[in-house]
Amino acid sequence: RAKAAGGNRYELADADSDARAIARHDLTNCLPGALENGEFFIEYQPLVRLSDGTVRGAEALVRWLHPVHGVLGPDQFIPLAESTGLIVPLGRWVLEEAARQARAWRSDGRCRVPLRVNVNLSPSQLRYPALVSDIVAVLDDAGLDPSALCLEVTENALIGADEEQLRPLRQLADLGVDIALDDFGTGYSNLSYLRRLPVSTLKLDRSFTRGMQRAPADPVDVKIVEGIVSLAHTLDLSVTVEGVETGTQADHLRILGCETAQGWYYARPGPPERLHTLSLADAAS
Ligand code: C2E
Ligand code: MG
Ligand code: MG
Ligand code: MG
Repeated sequence: RAKAAGGNRYELADADSDARAIARHDLTNCLPGALENGEFFIEYQPLVRLSDGTVRGAEALVRWLHPVHGVLGPDQFIPLAESTGLIVPLGRWVLEEAARQARAWRSDGRCRVPLRVNVNLSPSQLRYPALVSDIVAVLDDAGLDPSALCLEVTENALIGADEEQLRPLRQLADLGVDIALDDFGTGYSNLSYLRRLPVSTLKLDRSFTRGMQRAPADPVDVKIVEGIVSLAHTLDLSVTVEGVETGTQADHLRILGCETAQGWYYARPGPPERLHTLSLADAAS
């Protein structure tokens, strides 16, 4: 169901209608084979430093090129992979690919800044006993410095986690890997809990910044973001905003003190080669 759309090679099909159209069991049955057949691929979406507009890295977003249904987005198969346990090998594959890619960017002379890569971790990966040793091995094999990797974990994945369950993340943070709290603001609301988490970045969910897409901005949204940024900075956390679709939004977020932005305004997720061109454009401007 790949659709041609403007300059993009396709648009991900609507998750809701497709979840209905494509039988769950059908997809579930072909998941393991899909990993073996190399049907997954990763698109990278730039992360831009708001103060000067430079590309600092990219988030790895997995896609499945299904032989019959075309390109499927993660919302259509990550939950299935999660419930069948395939998320562990699939997640490891994403980490390996992304680490290799980050290493390639960093050794390519065309990138002026050493680019970093963000990888999403699912709740089952967090519970997987060999997570830390797997990641250490992946970084080692790729020859990638731990500080070039940021792991994104959702607030919901950490709800109720005790010290024991947080230990793998703490170990990774101690190694120098960055941890970001993804979709921040949509889940657990006990803010004092934030202090206990080994995170360095809050990724603010895009629902908070929709009201800033066009002038005049929604004053309540502005206040909320202002409050979150101030809280984050008090806790020594940086703020990344996802889903930035307009220049008006980017201006607001920069003025409000958010460090990093990601969204269609800058670039849609795309092939890894594009990061070279994007960071070249920075250097030229
Ligand atoms: P996420 O980590 O919050 O990723 C951001 C999502 O927002 C991506 O959707 C991205 O394509 C989309 N997005 C980016 N900019 C904009 C924008 O300006 N406007 C709008 N409307 N959307 C924007 P995508 O690629 O469909 O990924 C959905 C979710 O799937 C991700 O949400 C993440 O939770 C999960 N996911 C993706 N790759 C992986 C993976 O390798 N492993 C795991 N466990 N989860 C993954
Ligand atoms: Mg993410
Ligand atoms: Mg997110
Ligand atoms: Mg999100």
